[in-house]
Amino acid sequence: MFPQSNELEAYICLIAGGSRGIGAAIARAVAARGASVIINYRSSELEALRLARELREKGAGVLAIRADLSRENEVERMFTRIEAEMGNVNALVYNAGISQRGLLIECSEEQWDRVMDTNLKGAFLCCRRALPYMIRERFGRIINIASVLGITGASYESIYSSAKGGLIALTRSLAQEVGPSGITVNAIAPGPIFTDMLREELDEDEMADLTREIPVGRLGCPKDVAAACVFLLGREASFINGHILSLDGGWKP
Ligand code: NDP
Repeated sequence: MFPQSNELEAYICLIAGGSRGIGAAIARAVAARGASVIINYRSSELEALRLARELREKGAGVLAIRADLSRENEVERMFTRIEAEMGNVNALVYNAGISQRGLLIECSEEQWDRVMDTNLKGAFLCCRRALPYMIRERFGRIINIASVLGITGASYESIYSSAKGGLIALTRSLAQEVGPSGITVNAIAPGPIFTDMLREELDEDEMADLTREIPVGRLGCPKDVAAACVFLLGREASFINGHILSLDGGWKP
């Protein structure tokens, strides 16, 4: 069983891209505080179903739903199912993301579209679908998982950085638009976090070099991001809106 904590009771929290890494840690953290959780995934069905079972065994209300968030019809189908089986989403964590490394001059239009559609268009689609209920209820929480590279930009990661920069601008804009309706919209901009995404990009030596560059002397872990999410989701964070929280151990890329 989870330790008793009902900080997020009455939350129906959609973790968009919640099957692995940071998203899975966020799902565990919000479920441990009493939220009902929807674990969305695109391809990692086994991981998503295992996580759902783990949380259910600990007493959480949980659904695992497959949907490619870059597709409008799949987003619609996912929300319809959530509403039928669990209720309306009042907290959305848009965590789905894919990275893309390479010189811009060697990147294809297809790569641009894939990265933009997953990291940015999917957030637009999910926010647009979730907001009408939140506006009616005059309460809602949206957290977008961006990246520190969306603030600084990065050589070799122009498309990814552009998508995350767009996500940050979406966050700030939406915060102004829906703040008057009792909804907060914030983003977390992680630095290097030890997940599959980082493991696929860097070999062990590069990882060690990167770790040396981080003032706190370690890579981030998914739980670091989850802890920030729990705080921003909470009712006590109602005056934090349109904020981009850098979560990078002081790293300056
Ligand atoms: P992972 O690659 O470990 O996990 C990515 C998650 O996104 C998976 O759950 C994946 O689901 C999901 N996903 C990807 N595409 C889609 C899609 N089209 N529809 C639905 N879900 C999708 O990444 P991390 O955990 O490392 O990253 C999570 C977020 O944090 C991303 O947005 C990433 O850009 C951001 N971030 C990560 C950093 C890091 O160092 N790790 C640093 C800064 C930001 P499935 O497996 O089912 O496809």
